[in-house]
Amino acid sequence: MLAAAASLLNVDVVILDAGDHTPAKQLVAPRRPGLSHVDGSFADPVKIRELAAKVDVLTVEIEHVDAAVLDEVQGTLPLGVHPSPSTIRIIQDKFIQKEHLSAHALPVSEFIRVDSTPEAVRVAIDKLGLPLMLKSRTLAYDGRGNFVIREPEQIDAALSFLGDRPLYAERWVPFVKEIAVMVVRSATGEVCSYPAVETVHKENICHLVFAPLRSPDPAVLCRVRTVAEKAVHTFQGAGVFGVEMFLVEDGSVYLNEIAPRPHNSGHYTIEACETSQYENHLRAILSLPLGSTALKVPSAIMLNIIGASNDMHEVTALANHALAVPGARVHLYGKSDCRKGRKMGHITLVAGSDAEARHRLRPLLERLPSISS
Ligand code: ATP
Ligand code: MG
Ligand code: MG
Repeated sequence: MLAAAASLLNVDVVILDAGDHTPAKQLVAPRRPGLSHVDGSFADPVKIRELAAKVDVLTVEIEHVDAAVLDEVQGTLPLGVHPSPSTIRIIQDKFIQKEHLSAHALPVSEFIRVDSTPEAVRVAIDKLGLPLMLKSRTLAYDGRGNFVIREPEQIDAALSFLGDRPLYAERWVPFVKEIAVMVVRSATGEVCSYPAVETVHKENICHLVFAPLRSPDPAVLCRVRTVAEKAVHTFQGAGVFGVEMFLVEDGSVYLNEIAPRPHNSGHYTIEACETSQYENHLRAILSLPLGSTALKVPSAIMLNIIGASNDMHEVTALANHALAVPGARVHLYGKSDCRKGRKMGHITLVAGSDAEARHRLRPLLERLPSISS
């Protein structure tokens, strides 16, 4: 999606990923003679250096990269690395990320470092109570680094699930809604936010996004954007950031985590906003004027297409059905294999009202292959 936006601005894109036909490489070929994509892992220092030697600016679409190598190549690139390697280093370790946010007086649920021993987890339970959210500090996504301990008998199961990964624990937040705000940070440090959205997760994977967030209290809509903008302001470098938050019954807001890149909760911006998160990410890292973040439709819903099994036909059947729904746009990612729990694409629905958007969503939900089956 970033490559598609770049193509419309005549921006050449060179991609580092393992394989010759990965999704983004299917979409864009470098236009300059002699320039080619890089085949390798985004965690491999040699490959990152090879990519850096070909480009003017380097950006990431995943935070689990080697920040030390990004630091090393930063000074060699005319437009640098965005967001800055220091930002990526803070964010990729959730415990350090929480310490950073807390040091800037931003609202986060209480958290403590936990060694991978039953005694240390017991201490965390004594301090933070049950349920306790035990999390891997690093390499987490789609909830795969999280374990909810509801009773002390689960401590051993939690430790064996999380293995010997570095851990920390968070106090459980009894949220009424999960929300997200995309924030764009320009090269000169100005921030502007997209409207807040409601995100709904199923089995820890983002399932639906409703845009915009509705609240009987208009102050909430303002508060969440302000918190998200303040949080992004504390980081260095340009680009879009996905800010995940919890809304509690009394209207207060906690930051969950921040992604230093385009984010699933911002996919809706492609069809529903004046400027998509991808285009604004490019504009930010290239020091071009940022585009408006305003909604251009009254209501939008994003539905992730998540593999239920390794049967690709289920994915195409849902996508084909969506083609007949007014206001629907299908995005399939070109992934070669379908797997249970894998994000294969998404569908964005736009509509004249929330009621109309939900009406359009219903037949799609009825056809959804269930990942829990
Ligand atoms: P992502 O795919 O968004 O990167 P992740 O693996 O990094 O996910 P988190 O965002 O930390 O995981 O947590 C996944 C989900 O678990 C959250 O969206 C939320 O539903 C729930 N969750 C996380 N932390 C807490 C908490 N402290 N209290 C209650 N629920 C939580
Ligand atoms: Mg995460
Ligand atoms: Mg998350």
